[in-house]
Amino acid sequence: MIIVLKPNITKRQETAVLKEIRKLGYRPHVMRGVARIVIGAIGDERTHQSLETLMTWPQVENVMPVQRRYKLVSREAHPDNSAVPVRNHTIGGKKFHVMAGPCSVETEKQILKTAEVVKAAGATVLRGGAFKPRTSPYEFQGLGEKGLKLLDKARKATGLAVVTELLSEQDADLVAEYTDIIQIGTRNAQNFQLLIAAAKTGKPILLKRGLSMKIEEWLLAGEYVLANENSNLMFCERGIRTFESYTRNTLDLSTIPIIKQESHCPIVIDPSQGAGRADLVIALCKGAVAMGADALLVEVHPHPAEAWSDGAQQLTPEQFARLMHELQPFIRAAGRE
Ligand code: PEP
Ligand code: MN
Repeated sequence: MIIVLKPNITKRQETAVLKEIRKLGYRPHVMRGVARIVIGAIGDERTHQSLETLMTWPQVENVMPVQRRYKLVSREAHPDNSAVPVRNHTIGGKKFHVMAGPCSVETEKQILKTAEVVKAAGATVLRGGAFKPRTSPYEFQGLGEKGLKLLDKARKATGLAVVTELLSEQDADLVAEYTDIIQIGTRNAQNFQLLIAAAKTGKPILLKRGLSMKIEEWLLAGEYVLANENSNLMFCERGIRTFESYTRNTLDLSTIPIIKQESHCPIVIDPSQGAGRADLVIALCKGAVAMGADALLVEVHPHPAEAWSDGAQQLTPEQFARLMHELQPFIRAAGRE
């Protein structure tokens, strides 16, 4: 930890801080600047009491960690990009991937039709929620196991890989049986027991950013996956809660270069939950590709106006085909295939 003392403190105040650092089991290393004294406290924080309490001392200006709090997800730990194997694909490598499909699995006809059209347009992964985390208990909650079976049917019919959300620990093995990627949704992004259960299935994990999650918290949530012996993690930005109401959420595209700097794990962008409106999705996808995203997660429905959830943000098959066509120059410009 680094402890910065306030300017113009007395010798006695300085000595008291040094004494406290030693008392807590750390070795202080004093650096005297022109205006301020900075102390490096050396010791392992996992085995000693935290120095953060020094923040409450009147002579202390700041207490900061030297090392990143996340380790396994950090670029320091793994300088090369990680590529996540998903069936016969790798996400995070040279090839750019598009995951597409309805918000919710509704009927056999709907999911099979969507799978067919997104595959024809070039998607490699089919998305679709079987367990839906709805804001209101009176809204469609998803088909559950029946939805998983329909996804499996679509997977077998088309050869697409599948991504679907896991909502509760007790369903981890069931969901893993039918999916290639487990999605942890925004509402559960810091449900650590769920993250551990998902990680333990061994399936690749797509971790959405929580509604009000700081990037450091998101990276630390990802750390739970890697710390539980699952190295196949993808981060997915899907917009955060801000004061803005023109869009459902504020899609934070700055997370693309930040995650790339801080982590070796792939970054996926979900402009559908981000914007909450279909008319913005194509532009946001282009921006995400240009900024270096590894994949997109896009909602597509045969008839968005009749969708059982998130109708306003889902693309029609025609709009999705146009998106895939218009993305090509952006994918090439980003050095991807
Ligand atoms: C979804 O992908 O349909 C979904 C519910 O996502 P989020 O958790 O990002 O809201
Ligand atoms: Mn949705």
